Amino acid sequence: MTSTIKTTNPYSGKQLETYQLDSPADLDKKLQLADKTFRTWKDDDIEDRVALFKKLADQLFQEKKSLSELMTNEMGKPISESHAEIEKCIFLIDFYIKNAEKFLRDDIIETDASESFISYDPMGCVLAVMPWNFPFWQVLRFAVPTLAAGNVALLKHASNVTGCALAIERLFTEAGFPKGCFQTLITDHNAIEDIIGNDIVKAVSLTGSDKAGRKIAELAGKHLKPSLLELGGNNACIILEDADLDKHIDTIVKARMQNSGQSCIAAKRFIVVDKIYEEFIDKFKSKVENLKYGNPLEEDTKMSCLAREDLAETLADQVQKSVKLGAKVLVGNKQDAAYFAPTILTEVTSDMPVFKEETFGPVAAVIKVKSEDEAYKMAALSKFGLGTMVFTANVEAASKRISEIEDGAFFINEMVKSDPRLPFGGTKISGYGRELSKEGMLAFVNKKTVYIN
Ligand code: NAP
Repeated sequence: MTSTIKTTNPYSGKQLETYQLDSPADLDKKLQLADKTFRTWKDDDIEDRVALFKKLADQLFQEKKSLSELMTNEMGKPISESHAEIEKCIFLIDFYIKNAEKFLRDDIIETDASESFISYDPMGCVLAVMPWNFPFWQVLRFAVPTLAAGNVALLKHASNVTGCALAIERLFTEAGFPKGCFQTLITDHNAIEDIIGNDIVKAVSLTGSDKAGRKIAELAGKHLKPSLLELGGNNACIILEDADLDKHIDTIVKARMQNSGQSCIAAKRFIVVDKIYEEFIDKFKSKVENLKYGNPLEEDTKMSCLAREDLAETLADQVQKSVKLGAKVLVGNKQDAAYFAPTILTEVTSDMPVFKEETFGPVAAVIKVKSEDEAYKMAALSKFGLGTMVFTANVEAASKRISEIEDGAFFINEMVKSDPRLPFGGTKISGYGRELSKEGMLAFVNKKTVYIN
């Protein structure tokens, strides 16, 4: 068992830092501190808590440049997208500053009692296990509403973004949050069971693959702790024959290629009705071929390497197996270390890995269908359930499909994206529970029934 975590810049291949893992005694100290802090933090006025979030947002704003560089160096995200990620975190904080008090207010419910209501009480210490693809956003979209509700948090971040994990802890401390409100654990998988099993930890939130989701859900089940799982996706992007491609093609390309293709809610399967197929292929191919690949630290870079070499190898394997089953490579399919070229595969069928599995990189699987009905049927043919998007001029007809979509989201003429004002989460093997909006704020509270006679 190694006792360190080493981080590597995936673009240059150079090693960045070595971090010592927390010892069992270190972890215990952090858990005890979390417990102690919770006892006072939960009773602080919501206005006082909100004031600290204002400082946190200010610090993110002031340090945007260096935090973005840290993110880009650790996981290869194009720097313009790192800036956008920090800005989105500030927007999120601002949303909860404006709404936290309202969301947490007692809900009066008239009954036979002289007074009855729901009181939203914090649960205590919540463990978050987080992925590397949006190293700041994923953590803050969990932590901001969770802490604002009066909980305290422990973060086990993905090991390749340990620098980001420690920077987030520092930002909370420097914003004036009491020590122990937000702590980063430097640890590996082996320690997770003991942490989830510890009485101090009341719940766990995971954003990651369905494989990690199954493990965390198993541990949470064993110890009877609530869990929230935000897992992988294989979103369908349906292009109907009346879609305005001139208007939407940039959005459609971004839906697949943002973050160099490493997004859970990316469009991964493009299901295109035959009457618009040729036009779609021409426009899509030309845009994808023109995406500027380069050093992720350069402002005009649109695509860069993946976050780790093994991720590019997995993607290459999925593509190769699909090609063996009959998929045609229209563009791309080149791998070199952590680089994987933006790729379009056509003639994709439902038995291929690029259709059945999540592809976590810049690979678009295109499927030609004969009709609108067939398009929706094909879209639903997935174990995943994060979201479906459709591009069409007939919004009325698309709206009639809302109830048949089994996913956590349905977007018409827009890519599936997260927004602090709207709930976010999946169905099927994409997980359960909701983050963001009021739902996210109430994810880790005890909805206590109060009855006064
Ligand atoms: P991952 O390999 O599942 O890792 C996610 C986190 O879980 C990391 O902190 C990882 O730690 C930890 N982990 C993995 N296996 C574990 C185990 N057996 N026990 C305890 N902890 C474990 O996922 P990833 O590669 O970081 O992220 C990509 C995946 O996340 C994709 O499937 C993507 O779709 C999904 N995702 C979902 C959402 C959403 O909102 N639904 C958002 C973003 C990403 P280590 O780094 O130490 O392995």
